[in-house]
Amino acid sequence: MFMNHPAPANSRYKPTCYEHAANCYTHAFLIVPAIVGSALLHRLSDDRWEKITAWMYGIGLCALFIVSTVFHIVSWKKSHLRTMEHCFHMCDRMMIYVFIAASYAPWLNLRELGPLASHMRWFIWLMAAGGTIYVFLYHEKYKIVELFFYLAMGFSPALVVTSMNNTDGLQELAWGGLIYCTGVVFFKSDGIIPFAHAIWHIFVATAAAVHYYAIWKYLYRSPADIIRHL
Ligand SMILES: [Zn+2]
Repeated sequence: MFMNHPAPANSRYKPTCYEHAANCYTHAFLIVPAIVGSALLHRLSDDRWEKITAWMYGIGLCALFIVSTVFHIVSWKKSHLRTMEHCFHMCDRMMIYVFIAASYAPWLNLRELGPLASHMRWFIWLMAAGGTIYVFLYHEKYKIVELFFYLAMGFSPALVVTSMNNTDGLQELAWGGLIYCTGVVFFKSDGIIPFAHAIWHIFVATAAAVHYYAIWKYLYRSPADIIRHL
């Protein structure tokens, strides 16, 4: 049975058939562009460190859309396999932490940072590991705490990034962040706004595209490439 009204506080909203389809397609269509985009950054890398960073960011970007698509397919077609659905739902939530760390990695790894600020390079991955363990232990138990962790992890590296000498691309970074934050309204509106989760996916995709553009333009595209294309 599909429900069209808000679910009770403790159970998850059951999307309609159309909502399930929208949840799958909104991220499935981005898997190939994410792979192509990651490969492009890898090609544009001038040294080993840029290559490693392209891998870190690329894996995070591709995994986000792949894990999300697989979870939504399972939740649509295999919802009777409760344990399997639960596992994929946990993976989907863990990916948010890993993806935030991966999105910041190019800025933290490839820009010059102060001695204190440079610690954020590894600390962000520690936060991602902490978030992953939290999901493993308390998945869906304290939703407000979960949201607080997402936002704290999304904002704390921004403090470091904004203290960089080179501020090119920070405007795009902030725009992307604003799009993610606006999307959270829909992330929290399951059962209240029709297709809320699919709309959240579109916000995620748009913000990820803005961030990708900034990373490509300011961190990977070298002056030599620009001259070559003139
Ligand atoms: Zn989703």
